Amino acid sequence: MSGRLAGKNAIVTGAAGGIGLETTILFAREGANVLMADISEEALSRAQVKVKQLVPSAGRIETTICDVSKESAVQAAVESLDPWGGVDVMFNNAGIMHARDDDAVNTPEDIWDLTQNINVKGVWFGCKHAVLSLRRHNKTKGSIINTASVVALVGSATPQLAYTASKGAVLAMTRELAIVHAREGYRFNSLCPAPLNTPLLQDWLGDDKAKRHRREIHFPTGRFGEAIEQAQAVLFLASDDSSFVNGHDFVVDGGMTKAYVTPE
Ligand code: NAD
Repeated sequence: MSGRLAGKNAIVTGAAGGIGLETTILFAREGANVLMADISEEALSRAQVKVKQLVPSAGRIETTICDVSKESAVQAAVESLDPWGGVDVMFNNAGIMHARDDDAVNTPEDIWDLTQNINVKGVWFGCKHAVLSLRRHNKTKGSIINTASVVALVGSATPQLAYTASKGAVLAMTRELAIVHAREGYRFNSLCPAPLNTPLLQDWLGDDKAKRHRREIHFPTGRFGEAIEQAQAVLFLASDDSSFVNGHDFVVDGGMTKAYVTPE
C-alpha cells in the first residue's frame, strides 16, 4: 500500500457495481476509509465482504443503502461521515442505462424521467452534500468525481437518448461546479468511460452477437474496457497527485473518441 489516500474519507455511489467496486478496492488499498453506497442491499453486502477479503488491512469499509435520486438518502449518507471528520472524496458514480431507453420517438417519458432522476439529479445531490460537508468541516481541499460517459462527447447511432442526455448534463454540471468552487479548493472532474465489461452494458447486450459487433468494430483496441482501468483513473483524480486537474473531462476509452477509422 502506497497510501495515496491515507487519512481520507471517501463515499462511492454505485459501489456494488463494476466501476464502483473496483474503485472501492483501490481506495481501500491506498488507505482511505470508504462508505459504499448502493441501492441494491444484497449486492452491497457481497461487495463489502469482497473488499474486506481483498484488503484485510483496510480502514473503515462501511455500507449504506442509498437511492441517489432521493436527496434525503444522499444527505443522510454524507452526514453519516461527520463523526469520521467529514467527506474528502465523493465519487458520484451510480447510474442506469434502461432497456427501454431508445430514440426521440420511442423513449417512454417515464424512462426519460427515471434516467434523469438517477443519473443527473443523483449527481447533483452528491455534489451538493459533498460541498456542504467540506464546508462544515472547514476543509481547504476536496475532490469530487462524477461518472459521465463517452456518449457525452460523441453521438451514437445505436440510440439511448435519455442516457446520452443525462451524461451530457453530468459533464456540463461538473465543469461549472469546478469553476464555482475552485477558490475553495474543491475540485470537480468527470470520468468518461468507453463501453465496458461490466453488468450495466454486458447484461444489456446479452448474447446478441450483432449488437456486440456493432460496437466492437469501433474500438481501436478491439475490446471493451475493464472496470479496473476506470478505477485507476478515479484514484488519480481523487488523490493529491491530480491537485491541478480541475473541470476536466477525463476520458478513459482506449482512444475510441479519437478514432476516424480503426485498425483492421
Ligand atoms: P453497474 O451496473 O455495474 O453498477 C452500477 C451500480 O449502481 C449498481 O451496483 C447499481 O445497483 C447501482 N445503482 C443503480 N441505481 C442506483 C440508485 N438509484 N442509487 C444508488 N445506486 C444505484 O455499472 P458500471 O458499469 O459500474 O457503471 C457505473 C457508472 O459508469 C454509471 O454511471 C454508468 O452510466 C457509467 N458508465 C458505464 C459504462 C459501461 O459501459 N459500463 C460506460 C460509460 C459510463
